This record gives sequence, structure tokens and C-alpha cells, in this order.
Amino acid sequence: MPEFATGTSDYFDLLVVGGGINGVAVAQAAAAKGHSVLLLEKSELAAGTSRASSKLIHGGLRYLESYEFSLVYEALRERALMLRNAPDLVALKKFYIPVYRHTRRAPWLIFAGLSLYALCDRLRSSSRFRIVPKSEWNTLDGIATKDLRAVFQYQDAQTDDVELTRAVMNSAIDLGAVLKEHSRLISAHWHEDHFSVLVEHLDSRINYRCGAMVNAGGPWVNRINECIEPAPRTLGIDLIQGTHVELEGQMSDRFYYVESPRDGRAVFVMPWYENTLIGTTEARFSGNPDDIKALDSSVRYLLGVFRHYFPNFNGGSNARIVNRMAGARVLPEAKTSAFKRSRETILYWQPEFTPGGPAICTIYGGKLTAWRATADKVLKTIRTALPAPKRDIDTKTLRLQRATHRKSTA
Ligand SMILES: Cc1cc2nc3c(=O)[nH]c(=O)nc-3n(C[C@H](O)[C@H](O)[C@H](O)COP(=O)(O)OP(=O)(O)OC[C@H]3O[C@@H](n4cnc5c(N)ncnc54)[C@H](O)[C@@H]3O)c2cc1C
Repeated sequence: MPEFATGTSDYFDLLVVGGGINGVAVAQAAAAKGHSVLLLEKSELAAGTSRASSKLIHGGLRYLESYEFSLVYEALRERALMLRNAPDLVALKKFYIPVYRHTRRAPWLIFAGLSLYALCDRLRSSSRFRIVPKSEWNTLDGIATKDLRAVFQYQDAQTDDVELTRAVMNSAIDLGAVLKEHSRLISAHWHEDHFSVLVEHLDSRINYRCGAMVNAGGPWVNRINECIEPAPRTLGIDLIQGTHVELEGQMSDRFYYVESPRDGRAVFVMPWYENTLIGTTEARFSGNPDDIKALDSSVRYLLGVFRHYFPNFNGGSNARIVNRMAGARVLPEAKTSAFKRSRETILYWQPEFTPGGPAICTIYGGKLTAWRATADKVLKTIRTALPAPKRDIDTKTLRLQRATHRKSTA
């Protein structure tokens, strides 16, 4: 028998489903406007894609090739904000691009790309890049130099994706948002002007009511929409699984952006705490996102690329794999290669299609880097379904801190 929520009001202006980076960002943005917000997470914060990312806060240099200038510009603006507002969570790092005879992009193209990247970054000091002189190549972690034509060095940033998600949620909680972990949305029904929502929390079932909903379910997004009545408009999606492998031991504090000699795919090699992280691959995933796990074939592929470029890592012997991570991107369904598809976030907002109908916004895709900008767009989109803001704190001004404790209102 479902109970009504105790300890908090059972009614919220906004209910957010999913405690990944997008869900916590929306909770923060809504709480900053003084709305009452409840965030439901079926497991723990950052249990999904937001713990399996490449941990980069970046503009997406390669999106320039597909002319996605606004995406790059937005991501670099967000990177600059995080460098200012979250200095213990986001730090600039040196990235190296070695260009070999077999590399698909010629040195002049990389030079042009980095120049454009610097322009998109409004020529801030973070956008400086250089050609690494040949005399310095022997300092680059023993990188293979056969057929090496040039090496470029530029800057992008790294974070800890789980800590970043926790920090944004802590900021939302400070602003009044309520977090319920281990709370899975079971169903939601629209009744003229509100949703009644059923949630499974540990062994009990709890009812809530809310005026509007945001589905930030990442790869579970369409499964969540299936629990809602009437069914919200849903985008056909592909889940593209990405795998990382973490090797024991760190090379240095340098990040490398190499191309697989087999198929030209980009692979990052980067320090991750005291270890080395290599990623990522792309493989179509169909099934329950709960079952996503690193594929042996992907791990072998990544190790092959790594050994090709860094044959002397760990004295040339096999390094121990300490972790394998896998997560899935949400991309609009298409026949083209995932690598070539836009990474633009797509928002589906229900009243646009059925005026007066269920006020639900569904988030498809997105980037870790763009969490704040995405949440801003969500809040603008759903404002007609929310009461008048009680305050207007700009999330651009909010500082984020690495959490020593995870705040929880559960
Ligand atoms: C391999 C890979 C590498 C990436 N690298 C980068 C990068 O370096 N930089 C970058 O900017 N972006 C990167 N991205 C993109 C970025 O990681 C994602 O866009 C982002 O993490 C998605 O966050 P999300 O909140 O939408 O989804 P998720 O983090 O997946 O969160 C969804 C949450 O919903 C919860 N949930 C599901 N069903 C329910 C339910 N019924 N009730 C309650 N909760 C539920 C899940 O438990 C989960 O925690 C990468 C993506 C991948 C796949």
C-alpha cells in the first residue's frame, strides 16, 4: 500500500528524475529560482553515464570539423566558468596531439583547428597552443617517434565526474532542493494540473505530487517516459556505449589525443589520480542500460592503441588493469556513424504539442561540460509550468566545492 511522503511536503513545483549531471544541474537551476524541487535517483548520485565519462571539461575540438561552432563556443564558455567557480574540481591540463605519417589530419589542419578553437575561446590565456619542438619529443613519456611529423600542445580541462555531480547537488541542496537516493520512479499520472507520482524507496512505495517533471534519465530516458501517462512524446534514440580502461601507474601529467592506427578513431590517454585512463570506444548498445559493462573487445582495442604509441609504459611489460568503465551516450536514432552525429542536447517539451497537457520536459543527450547551460535551457523551456520565481540567483555565480561529505536529504 503506497504511503504519502513524510518528513517533507508531498508536493513539489518540479520533480526531476535522474541524479546524473543533467538532473542535479536542473535541480540547482530550479532551486536557484526559489522553486521547490525533488530529485529522484534510483541508485546513488552519478550512478550512470556521469561516472563513466572521459572526465574532460572541454570544448570538443573535433566538433569544429562538423561546423558545430555554437556547441564549441558554449562548452568553452562553460569551461571558463568552471575554472573560476570550481577550482578544486576542474583544472586546465596540457594536451598533446602527435601527428604521424598515417594520421588522418595533416599538421596544417590541426593548426587551423587549434586556431579556430582559440577564437571560440575568445583568445583567453587557456586557448594558447604551440608546436612542440623536436628536441622535446624525448620528454613525452616515451611516445613512439617513428614516422612522427609534428606534435601540438594545447589546453583543456579535467574533472572528477562523480565529485562534480555531487558538488552540483550539494549546491542545489543548499538552495533548498530535496534529494532522494535509492528512489526509483515507478509511475506518474497527469491529472489536469499536476502529476501524481509513485516511487519505490527501498522496501516501501511513496506518493508525491508535482506541477512539472523533468526526465533526466540519460540512457534510461525512454524507459522512464514509458512509466508516464499519458505517454510523453518520445524521440527514437540509439545508445552508443563507450569504454575506458584504467591501468595501474601514471605516465605523467600529460594528456594525449592519439588516433587508432587501425581505423583512425580518436583515443585519449590521460592521468587519472595515480593511474592512467585510456578511452574511448564506440559500440551500439541495445538492452537495459543497467546491464552496460565494458566489452572485452573494446578493452583489447584500447590496449592495442595504447601499446602502439607507448610501447615502453611500465618498462614494456603488461600493466595491471585496475578498472574498466562503460557508459552510453544518447544520440538521435540514425544510420550514420555515431562519431559523425551531433552532440547537441535535445529537449522535448510536452505542452508545446498538447497545450494544457502534462508538463514534462525530456532531456536527450548532452555533455558533462555543458550541464549548467543545459539546465538554463530546461528552466527557460518549462517556465510556463512553474510558479513565478521567488528569487533569481544566477547559477553562473555559484561556487562549487569538492564534497567532503555527500549531503543527503533521503
Ligand atoms: C564514454 C563516454 C565518455 C564521455 N566523456 C565526456 C567528457 O569527457 N566530457 C563531456 O563533457 N561529456 C562526456 N560524455 C557525455 C556525458 O558523460 C553525458 O552526457 C552525461 O554524463 C549524461 O548525464 P545524464 O545526467 O543525462 O545521464 P546519467 O548520468 O546516465 O544519469 C541518469 C540517471 O538516471 C537514473 N535513473 C534511471 N532510471 C531512473 C528511475 N526510474 N528513477 C530514478 N532514477 C533513474 C540513473 O540511475 C542515472 O543515475 C561522455 C559520454 C560517454 C558515454
